[in-house]
Amino acid sequence: MKRNDCILAAAIFLFAGLLSVMFFLSGNEQGNYVTVTVDKKVYGTYPLDETQDIEILTEFGHNNLHVENGTVCMTEADCPDGYCKRQGEISTEKETIVCLPHKLVVEIQGAKPNGGRTEEQTDGQTGEDYDILVK
Ligand SMILES: [Zn+2]
Repeated sequence: MKRNDCILAAAIFLFAGLLSVMFFLSGNEQGNYVTVTVDKKVYGTYPLDETQDIEILTEFGHNNLHVENGTVCMTEADCPDGYCKRQGEISTEKETIVCLPHKLVVEIQGAKPNGGRTEEQTDGQTGEDYDILVK
């Protein structure tokens, strides 16, 4: 009887350990996120593993993003050039869709940004993106 208890305790301990390892691993493989930046300010961050439409309404105009199977594409935009809609789907880290007339940058992130530090980094990258595009 005592021996069985011991085995049970060991099994529970092992199971709990396994669970925490699985939780840890799944946390690491949380998938990518897409960050929407308008006028160098973060408009929102959305997970890529959820099928959704993201409506972006700003003072500059209206855009609609579609997220499905880890890819993002611009489905609607009322900007004059419509260039963002022709940039197609993005799915890998650091890929971007840019809508210059709306000062909009959509960028794939490897992990969910946390805290202001990542926002600062995003700001810097966004500035660089603009410079590259302006040139
Ligand atoms: Zn556009």
